[in-house]
Amino acid sequence: MTDTRIGFIGLGIMGRPMAGNLLRAGYSLCVYDIRPEAVASLVGEGARGAMCAREVAEQSEVVITLLPDTPDVELAVFGQDGVSQGARPGMLYIDMSTIAPSAARRIHDRLAAQGVEALDAPVSGGELGAREATLSIMVGGKASAFERALPILRTLGRRIVHVGGPGAGQLAKACNQIVVAVTLQAVAEALTLARKAGVDPQKVREALLGGFASSRVLEVHGLRMIERHFEPGFRIRLHRKDLRIALETACELSVPLLATSLVANELDALLARGLAELDHSGLALLVEELAGMGHAGPEEMGPQPS
Ligand code: NAD
Repeated sequence: MTDTRIGFIGLGIMGRPMAGNLLRAGYSLCVYDIRPEAVASLVGEGARGAMCAREVAEQSEVVITLLPDTPDVELAVFGQDGVSQGARPGMLYIDMSTIAPSAARRIHDRLAAQGVEALDAPVSGGELGAREATLSIMVGGKASAFERALPILRTLGRRIVHVGGPGAGQLAKACNQIVVAVTLQAVAEALTLARKAGVDPQKVREALLGGFASSRVLEVHGLRMIERHFEPGFRIRLHRKDLRIALETACELSVPLLATSLVANELDALLARGLAELDHSGLALLVEELAGMGHAGPEEMGPQPS
């Protein structure tokens, strides 16, 4: 099925390596990003570059988007020169961005009226998972569309779960981001306590990785906190966006998310300090500041381009 012509829109931290994996698997790929340099780098690997999302859709049987937020996806699909203007009946659209479940359902219904099947298929596993094609992919949409997408999704990830109907993939991703956020907070608190007590946080992490406190967040983000490695990764502004989605969805259903609200407020404090582009493991900087162990400020961003 690698003769399927795929279009890929959004070549950032996640999209670029995922598009590269599709190329290496032998798919014919047409790519677009508002940053021409991102398009050029994939063209250098054998993709065809497009000038807009409409052109991608015109040339593709399956179109994938991997964009920051709900308005970006709606613009790329329904805006001027968007996917819907180039789509033909029978095309499959897969949105792998993290957006609101309600928006995913709206997009599904609008495209269905055009004869286009749509899936929401957000991912977890970070840049490393994108590069190594080990992502977890949570899919919402019709079973027929899921079956059609499966060979492509298997090129990008390892655990691929059809969660339910339209929007169910995004709902699962909101759940994922709640767990990651609250675990990040716990790891930041634990390692800060160790540091202030004068106990080696590296040894604490090593010990905890063998018991019930073990997690991917302790392993990957715990190491980042210890090594002071806050280059993204997953940007603070994007995790704040994901918690907004989780909190709004929970509010619609009258589900209090107490711990999630706390972390969302902390991410706001980091945004207010100008740290939007830091990796979300930078949450530790705020926990440390509250413990009187330093100041979370722009110097954490490293040297900025002049
Ligand atoms: P990013 O900011 O690195 O990349 C987004 C890309 O989209 C950029 O290259 C940008 O130029 C492009 N873009 C924006 N608007 C566009 C438009 N209208 N048309 C074409 N291109 C456009 O973000 P990312 O980290 O790759 O994240 C993308 C999505 O994946 C987000 O929804 C994020 O929440 C989710 N996600 C990220 C990670 C991670 O670890 N980075 C992990 C899982 C999920």
